[in-house]
Amino acid sequence: VFAFPALDCHAHVDPTVTRAQVATLQGAHVFAMTRTLDEARRAQRNPQPGLHWAVGTHPGAPRGLENWELRDFKGLAGSGFLVGEIGLDRRASSTRHRDTFRDVLRASSGRVKSVHSAGAVNQVLEVIDETSSRGVILHWFLGSRDQVDRAVELGCFFSVNAAMPDEVLRSLPYERVLPETDFPASRSKTRASKPGDIRALEATVSRLTRLSPERVRRNWYITLGRLFRDAAVEERVPTALAQLASAAAGGRPPDPLR
Ligand SMILES: [Zn+2]
Repeated sequence: VFAFPALDCHAHVDPTVTRAQVATLQGAHVFAMTRTLDEARRAQRNPQPGLHWAVGTHPGAPRGLENWELRDFKGLAGSGFLVGEIGLDRRASSTRHRDTFRDVLRASSGRVKSVHSAGAVNQVLEVIDETSSRGVILHWFLGSRDQVDRAVELGCFFSVNAAMPDEVLRSLPYERVLPETDFPASRSKTRASKPGDIRALEATVSRLTRLSPERVRRNWYITLGRLFRDAAVEERVPTALAQLASAAAGGRPPDPLR
């Protein structure tokens, strides 16, 4: 039986990570977020197998917007398939932050986008709606029932981790849910020892869905393939990821949650 590697759709990795350190991730595919364009620039100079560097503009990054330029963002986004971490925050949802987030989303069509919305869910959904953005993954989403419904209407996906309570996980449509660690945040709660360590999350999802951990693992890639199609991102996606997504789908629909 072909074993799928671990998938982590939102983690933070030092841009100077070494080949030896990456080897300890055991073949995991990790969507490695950056918070500023400078961090993204440094990360891109350090390509590593299994690490997919994203170009980010984190709302909470100190001095993140001081030297921010749309032209620089577009240059770094280049032909890549992945943008993140972007979004708004309870402490960063001023007009300027919203304008920047809108510019970022408009410049990120045809890409997968990992979006932060802590304490600013309505504002984030508003801008996603205004820009008709597809390919959005709402990371560690803690919206209300109504906000989840609105996010689904807007075509959003969700990345979840083992620190999220069962009732929150159950409130999200399983066929739009992807795994994350948000490493190194809240490590004691996510129980992730490193980026790509999604074992605790998979055990939780296996318990909630009554699917085997192997099936849960495979379903992540089916969902990822659906996201790729939905975001019209397929020609930008690295071959290894595209192959995993199609191997997982195998022409069969994913299992229902209930
Ligand atoms: Zn993050």
